[in-house]
Amino acid sequence: MEVFTENQTLSAALDPYRISKKIGIVPTMGALHEGHLSLVRRALNENDCVVVSIFVNPTQFNNEGDLVNYPRTLGKDVALLETLQGTVFVYAPKAKELYNNHIVSRSYNFGSIATEMEGKHRQGHFDGVGTVVCLLFKAVRPHTSYFGEKDFQQLQIVRKMTAIEKLPVKVIGCSIIREPSMLAMSSRNKRLNAQELQAAAVINKCLRMAAKYFREKSISEINTMVSNCFKQSSLTLEYFEIANEKTLKTVKRKRKGITYRGFIAAFSGEVRLIDNQKLS
Ligand code: AMP
Repeated sequence: MEVFTENQTLSAALDPYRISKKIGIVPTMGALHEGHLSLVRRALNENDCVVVSIFVNPTQFNNEGDLVNYPRTLGKDVALLETLQGTVFVYAPKAKELYNNHIVSRSYNFGSIATEMEGKHRQGHFDGVGTVVCLLFKAVRPHTSYFGEKDFQQLQIVRKMTAIEKLPVKVIGCSIIREPSMLAMSSRNKRLNAQELQAAAVINKCLRMAAKYFREKSISEINTMVSNCFKQSSLTLEYFEIANEKTLKTVKRKRKGITYRGFIAAFSGEVRLIDNQKLS
């Protein structure tokens, strides 16, 4: 499998697919796992070829340590992609190539979907995400793109960026793939030992608890239950929020006719993990 690092050579490889064929894209930061592969499989089913981008985007990291320690496993990633049936192009550009030597974020006006939760705790993160996905869409010019609901807020940001930039790319949200413990699969899980992996199951356990009691208990009661559950674990809760699924505005009281989702970010040592779940 050829790994493209330059826009020009990738573009030439994609040229034959431009007329009457469909190109899909799955943007990733690499250290691929079954969660990523589920997106690639779906993209392969729905397109004639799929570009999997592997790029650890510096502008979306607000913590230098997180950027430095982010797992980079290009050889293994390519081997995993080679196990799939279908035409996959790996696009792993250097930052200077993708950003055309100008490695900074654009400043977007995403509204409330960028200011809550991840937006509050990771300054500049969504401008970085919007910028890099826009650059990838412009380099690849796909018909359809695939993103995981694991990063639910990011999925909404990509939808909004695509509308703001008027890019003709369909954005598809895909279900979260989990470990048997229900921990959401994540490249960051590679930084946890067996004991930490087991303990991290508390994240989804709390989301399921929130879903179970969502109808009968108030949001403040659910907050207390979640916070107590984390106190008994080795993880540190950064936030638990219940938000309107459309606006992503966090809420203190439920209202009829609105769909809600629970969101958690928590630390296992220095490793930051996120998850979310629909509440109804
Ligand atoms: P990342 O490499 O973490 O930036 O993720 C690349 C894409 O894979 C994003 O759209 C993520 O939401 C998606 N993704 C990551 N983990 C999972 C998972 N466990 N299930 C489904 N999609 C995922």
